[in-house]
Amino acid sequence: MSLVQLIYVSSVTSELSDAELDRILESSVRHNAEQEITGLLLYAEGNFMQVLEGSEAAIDETYGRICADARHKNLVLLSREVIENRQFSRWHMGYRRLDGVSVPPSSAYLDLARLRPDGHTVEAQAGDALALLRHFYELNR
Ligand code: FAD
Repeated sequence: MSLVQLIYVSSVTSELSDAELDRILESSVRHNAEQEITGLLLYAEGNFMQVLEGSEAAIDETYGRICADARHKNLVLLSREVIENRQFSRWHMGYRRLDGVSVPPSSAYLDLARLRPDGHTVEAQAGDALALLRHFYELNR
């Protein structure tokens, strides 16, 4: 069974309240625990970046459900890779709200306020995205 890691970015369809964000997180943790998915969701000023790790079948089913969710739009799949080991194994879905947080130097090509790639190649964006996600994962040790 292949272990897959997937990273995407998206934007909210309309402004989400803290309660709505909590509902998304609660539902994510519940579903992901059932399917042994781990990962991290970042949110800043109306944009999401999420990494999901798990079996290929679980990741593809879950990402399909996430893509169909009308609460966000403009999904950009940055990477979908077969991996040897999980890199976000502590959480079924960790969450950080990043408004006003400074950018780590390793992620210079991502606009943190908007969590959007800034026009570099997809490969560079994926590397920067992973570095950014790992940065905030390590901060929560
Ligand atoms: P529930 O979790 O039972 O839904 C609870 C309530 O939330 C519903 O009654 C409804 O009011 C509201 N709701 C649910 N779905 C929608 C919707 N599509 N549009 C509007 N309101 C809705 N799911 C995961 O399983 N794992 C993830 O990692 C994950 N990450 C997400 C990241 C983002 C940025 C977003 C926007 C969603 C994410 N989701 C994730 C949620 C996913 O898209 C589905 O909404 C969810 O899995 C549906 O679960 P459910 O049918 O059990 O609904």
